[in-house]
Amino acid sequence: MLEFRNVSFSYNGDSWVLRDINFSVEKGEFVSIIGSNGSGKSTIARLSNGLLLSQKGEVFLDGNSLKDIDINRMAKFKVGVVFQNPDNQFVGITVEDDLAFGLENMGLERNQIQMKILEISEKLGIKSFLHFPPSLLSGGEKQKVAIASVLILEPDYIIFDEVTSLLDPINRKMILKTIREISVGKGVLYITHHPEETVFSDRIIVLNEGYIVKTGTPYEVFGDVDFLASVNVSNLNEAIFSKKLLESGLIERFSLNLEEIVSE
Ligand code: ADP
Repeated sequence: MLEFRNVSFSYNGDSWVLRDINFSVEKGEFVSIIGSNGSGKSTIARLSNGLLLSQKGEVFLDGNSLKDIDINRMAKFKVGVVFQNPDNQFVGITVEDDLAFGLENMGLERNQIQMKILEISEKLGIKSFLHFPPSLLSGGEKQKVAIASVLILEPDYIIFDEVTSLLDPINRKMILKTIREISVGKGVLYITHHPEETVFSDRIIVLNEGYIVKTGTPYEVFGDVDFLASVNVSNLNEAIFSKKLLESGLIERFSLNLEEIVSE
């Protein structure tokens, strides 16, 4: 379990950007965080794998505090983070090099690495461009490679931090589908400022100015649109759309446009 207990965080030691944050993500659970820009979502992502350490409270990974240096080191493997901009995450000259990088660092043998690359690239549909430099890929393809390079390390938990925000609607849909497929059995923290992307979650956490202001099932969270409006949740129209989607019972035919599903 990945658990935040009474976590507060400040970048400058003066003003708190997260205040008394409490939540947990179990293996097999899909938990989303929504909130407007600057509400503290990315800071939660960075605290989840020890990239940042909290000044107050603690983050626990399977019962151990990330402030313990050995656990913190292990967290880099157990908790994978996929960020908004895949261009900042590529380390290899080709997609294949990129996928091999983490495994080489772990000391795996060449043929084991090859097998894992083959398996993951088939799973994510990126096999045909393994020998391409990442710069030649589309935004959606790049994000798939970024997800594959995290997934190949077999983390128990994956944090997705605004991974669709640079994508067009077609690629957004494709990446959302991919994320749902690969998330089975993992603990997922899905961070977004697009409320509509979270309708499949087991739980949604609403963050506002560093505080958790609501936690609940998608139905509970989007059922109270007036509350969401009052806490300045990003993109209220999407929250209203999400409510309609849930009420329509068409959630499994997810689209980013309700009209499209209804007219199918
Ligand atoms: P979100 O992901 O919801 O947009 P962030 O976690 O990125 O929010 O930011 C929360 C607050 O912390 C914002 O006020 C932001 O300006 C501030 N902040 C983020 N990163 C840094 C940093 N490296 N140094 C100082 N302040 C930061």
